[in-house]
Amino acid sequence: MMLIDSHAHLEMPEFKRDLEAVIQRAKQSGVEYIFTVGTEKKDWTRTLEIANSHPSLYAILGVHPHNAKEIDDQTYPTLRELCREEKVKAYGEIGLDFFRNLSSREVQLKRFREQIALAKELRLPIVVHDREAHPETLEILKSEKAEECGGIIHCFSGDYEMAKVCMDMGFYISVPGSITFKNAGSLREVVKKIPLESLLVETDAPFLTPEPFRGKRNEPSYVRYTAEKVAEIKNISFEKVAEMTTENALRVYRLKL
Ligand SMILES: [Zn+2]
Ligand SMILES: [Zn+2]
Repeated sequence: MMLIDSHAHLEMPEFKRDLEAVIQRAKQSGVEYIFTVGTEKKDWTRTLEIANSHPSLYAILGVHPHNAKEIDDQTYPTLRELCREEKVKAYGEIGLDFFRNLSSREVQLKRFREQIALAKELRLPIVVHDREAHPETLEILKSEKAEECGGIIHCFSGDYEMAKVCMDMGFYISVPGSITFKNAGSLREVVKKIPLESLLVETDAPFLTPEPFRGKRNEPSYVRYTAEKVAEIKNISFEKVAEMTTENALRVYRLKL
């Protein structure tokens, strides 16, 4: 039995004290690979360092919509360089966050488009962050022809119709720990309908800690609780969910077993 945490943030300060123990616990829980996402300039070098420190770790680099306003003339040349490193398996997370609006909407829209183009140039799949911006996210994915790079809609929060459009473009849908929350009934209904062939599981650690640990720091070993919930919703075995989500993650990140 093997699991993959398709999305975590191991470079964040929450892991500074015990990163090695966190990685070991993941391994002991069957989490074979962890993809750690560096979301802003100050984190990219550290993200790569962490990915390079362990055979089971890989990196994803890009500029998060929160940080879109920080993009300057140096940003894309720097990313072009860093993303050529062996351990970088996707470009992201990029997208739109109209919940917090830490960068203006105009800037987020512009930088999202630009970064899809950069990912295509780098021949990397994209990891998409979409919070409270479903129609705009879909519009940009379509008009920028994001099916040419494909990738993952991470922490999916849309409805089934949106998932369907994304899957038809070749995207995978990644399910976070919030699927275990009492009030996540509508997300569970959506996941129930999405074929296992298009699903990934993720922690987004240190955020979105699943039950029974909600309220504590999240970590990659907890991705198991999300996979267990997916199995329960779909009325299939945990082993099947582990096997398929692992295969899917290996395929989208272009890794061989
Ligand atoms: Zn995100
Ligand atoms: Zn994230």
